Amino acid sequence: MTRDETRISQEELEAAQYFHGHKCPAMPQGLRAGHLAMDLLGVHRARGGGELVAIVETGDHHFSGCFVDGVMFATGCTTGKGNLVRKPLGKFAVTLIDTKTLRAVRVTPHYERMSQCLTMDFFKLRANGVPPYELDPQVVEPLIKDVLTKPWEEIFAVQTFDQYPYRKEPEVFDAVQCAHCGELVVTSYATSYQGHWYCEPCLDQALHAASPES
Ligand SMILES: [Zn+2]
Ligand SMILES: [Zn+2]
Repeated sequence: MTRDETRISQEELEAAQYFHGHKCPAMPQGLRAGHLAMDLLGVHRARGGGELVAIVETGDHHFSGCFVDGVMFATGCTTGKGNLVRKPLGKFAVTLIDTKTLRAVRVTPHYERMSQCLTMDFFKLRANGVPPYELDPQVVEPLIKDVLTKPWEEIFAVQTFDQYPYRKEPEVFDAVQCAHCGELVVTSYATSYQGHWYCEPCLDQALHAASPES
């Protein structure tokens, strides 16, 4: 396993910040975690989708959820390609799986690192309702620089897996028309009932209509 780490260029950082929408330290932390995971596995960014899968453990509506956008940008594991799996545990970790070999790494910031965040001015301001894009760059920029330049061992803990339990789902390329709403539904999400295809909400209606009321 290599310990050489890809350097995140200013160009990549700016592109990721554009995608993310504002400057904060959590997105770059995810960006670096994603790159580190790829470096440790010796793999390239996902292009087709199936070659890499990222499992992220952040939940909804909590601080530093921005981590996931950095992971997506770095690894190419995205919601649209279907290779970003959300396992909401309220933790800041990404597990990157090489689906060909089933080797995987889980990268997570050290406890001390994340917990000290909570006492920083940046987080106090955020907790008091200041949106990230209104924060003074002097508060944010040093945090971004810190997360991108410290030796990774000081920021992240890494676990490796030789055979991660992951089952590949085949990609579906066909669809049907729902007999009730007339919309197109991917076949694996449609149900055949009494000789007709239905989408899920229309199937519920069809089943209720079929059940005797009196
Ligand atoms: Zn952010
Ligand atoms: Zn329907």
